[in-house]
Amino acid sequence: MKTLLTGSEGLVGSTIDAQVRVCGRKPPLPGYKEYGRRWVDLRIPKDTLSLFHETKPTHVIHCAARVGGLAANINHMGEFFYDNMMINLNVLEAARRAKVKKVVSFMSTCIFPDDVEYPITEDKLHLGEPHPSNYGYSYAKRMVEVQSRAYNEQYGISVSGSDVTFNTNYITVAPTNIYGPKDNFELENSHVLPALIHKCYLAKKHNTPFVVWGSGKPLREFIYSEDVGELTQILLEEYGESSPVILSTSEEHSIRDIVIAIADAVDFQGHIIYDDTKPDGQYRKPTCNDKLMSIVPGYKFTPLEEGIQKTVDWFIENYENCRK
Ligand code: GDP
Repeated sequence: MKTLLTGSEGLVGSTIDAQVRVCGRKPPLPGYKEYGRRWVDLRIPKDTLSLFHETKPTHVIHCAARVGGLAANINHMGEFFYDNMMINLNVLEAARRAKVKKVVSFMSTCIFPDDVEYPITEDKLHLGEPHPSNYGYSYAKRMVEVQSRAYNEQYGISVSGSDVTFNTNYITVAPTNIYGPKDNFELENSHVLPALIHKCYLAKKHNTPFVVWGSGKPLREFIYSEDVGELTQILLEEYGESSPVILSTSEEHSIRDIVIAIADAVDFQGHIIYDDTKPDGQYRKPTCNDKLMSIVPGYKFTPLEEGIQKTVDWFIENYENCRK
């Protein structure tokens, strides 16, 4: 088994073992080389094909994507659509041509229909429009499920070539809100957990109040990045159906719970202010993890407090050089 990982420097990719690690950014110095690491623009078909033909993987974990927060999605709607469509089309087609047997591709539960009956389950992916703020990203990501399913339908049987027998088994996963080390900790544009870790850290440092957006009442589901990496590696070996798998703990936490856990982890003793001039967003968007748990019965997720403590420790240790 030789695994190629795309998006190897990201939140999930950085927790996964693979022989070939592909990241989209340019090497930091001309001629810079690090074992197993490659810099490839996966939007370019011929570069993607060359990568697969040179490295000859048998398995692929595909995490690479153009991602961003609410503002980035709204301001770059067309780019988010184009870049993600190209990346996914190229990666799956290159995998097929290079006779890769198994691919796990990442989607997200934020691409599910906006107006959907809760809890969110895998079979509801295409049952309505995504949220208008991220439809470019969402439709492009939904197509990775369509492409994987179509390939399995056409190529998922044993095809005897002159000297090879090959069949695709391309699957997709949809995690909820992932958090952990190496996240984007920007104050305004990142997701709630890394944004609040950074805000709490600054509030402690400058002895100012810790200001949280909204009422603190909305509920969200969080999953630790190392759990996502571990589950992905299990699914790569043990799950073989075309239909997606939601990666979630199915445990909802209020933003207030998150704030308390972050304040504890940072050891912040000052004032906490809920700024109700800022939006709450959707009240809740619960998911069902029955399918995941039927594949990995008894899986122990990292408890939220432990995951937050590890993330805070990493953030403080890497403050100078992290994405913020
Ligand atoms: P969502 O899950 O797609 O809505 O995206 P977020 O990860 O941005 O979570 C948003 C929820 O966290 C909303 O209820 C916000 O009001 C709340 N929140 C509180 N403080 C912050 C913050 O500093 N940044 C962000 N992004 N959300 C915050």
